Amino acid sequence: MEIRVRNIRKEFDRYPALHDVSLDIRSGELIALLGPSGSGKTTLLRLIAGLEFPTSGRIFFGEEDASTKSVQDRNVGFMFQHYALFKHMTVAENIGFGLSVRDSKTRPTKAEIRRRASELLDLVQLSGLEDRYPQQLSGGQRQRVALARALAIEPRMLLLDEPFGALDAKVRKDLRRWLRELHDKIGLTTVFVTHDQEEALELADRVVVMSQGRIEQVGSADDIYDRPASPFVFSFIGQSNTLPVKVRGGEIAYRDIVLGRTDEADGEWQMFVRPHDLEAAAPGTPALRGTVSLSRRAGGSRFSEFALGEDRRRIEVEMPAGEGGEPGSELNVLPRRWQLYPGGASA
Ligand code: ATP
Repeated sequence: MEIRVRNIRKEFDRYPALHDVSLDIRSGELIALLGPSGSGKTTLLRLIAGLEFPTSGRIFFGEEDASTKSVQDRNVGFMFQHYALFKHMTVAENIGFGLSVRDSKTRPTKAEIRRRASELLDLVQLSGLEDRYPQQLSGGQRQRVALARALAIEPRMLLLDEPFGALDAKVRKDLRRWLRELHDKIGLTTVFVTHDQEEALELADRVVVMSQGRIEQVGSADDIYDRPASPFVFSFIGQSNTLPVKVRGGEIAYRDIVLGRTDEADGEWQMFVRPHDLEAAAPGTPALRGTVSLSRRAGGSRFSEFALGEDRRRIEVEMPAGEGGEPGSELNVLPRRWQLYPGGASA
């Protein structure tokens, strides 16, 4: 089911949590809403679910205007981090809950609900746990049961708010892979909220980066990482260094150090550079120079930090471990890839 969000504004007591948000979600897509705390991710998800209503704007499910429909009429499956399983119900009863509260005309028989719960338990790879109670399950198992419960009503889409938020890193990673496989199997349009960029970039077909109630960029992991649309996206995703630079006649300079060439107009710009896009400069050439103050090893790389020039601007460099960068050593580096954004204000 395709979801189209059109010019949504949402105010809480006149405070705008979302400003004029528009978004097209393709049918069968797995899409992540990613952003810092308070950026409006959960609000957007709740508006799609029908748990909140927009101050203005519309939401379409396919051709149907769902904006004023109730949660029940929208027929969406949702799972929230704090939307816990019912403690006094078994796993099978939890999964069947949404079906068992339907009115008598559409309610399946008890046997049918139980059969459906077992099928869903197979799907989430928890066969045989029908009669356990939630407290007899691990955190990861509980989340999978919650997902089975969301799927039981045969929803038109799945909306997940920080689905793995409360779990430890290893379980999160396993569940992430599992959710991707499950999604590929059932092909249900799925929107999930996360503040974990690794989770978003690894799991989603496309990522929606949000900040302060607005969408900053929508794109694949490669688009977002390699072609960030704004300084916010550049610095929010991955690591980055920022330098105020001047462009004169195609030359980019930080103070009097020429860093490279560009087609951009003369003026003041901000240069954003990833730590792994800084490379060692040939001895004697003008370069960004400093004495390494901190360094840490991460896998095959070494991350080193130095303070640049008088304003002690922090520069982080990622180099293959073994190529230097230990504390106390000198580093001379130049950017090999960068992005320029207009404006001189130092970030
Ligand atoms: P987090 O990652 O912390 O959950 P988020 O990106 O999901 O953040 P939202 O929960 O959508 O952000 O909140 C967006 C803004 O709207 C915040 O400033 C929040 O305080 C405000 N807000 C959300 N729900 C309500 C509410 N029911 N009443 C008043 N303000 C709200």
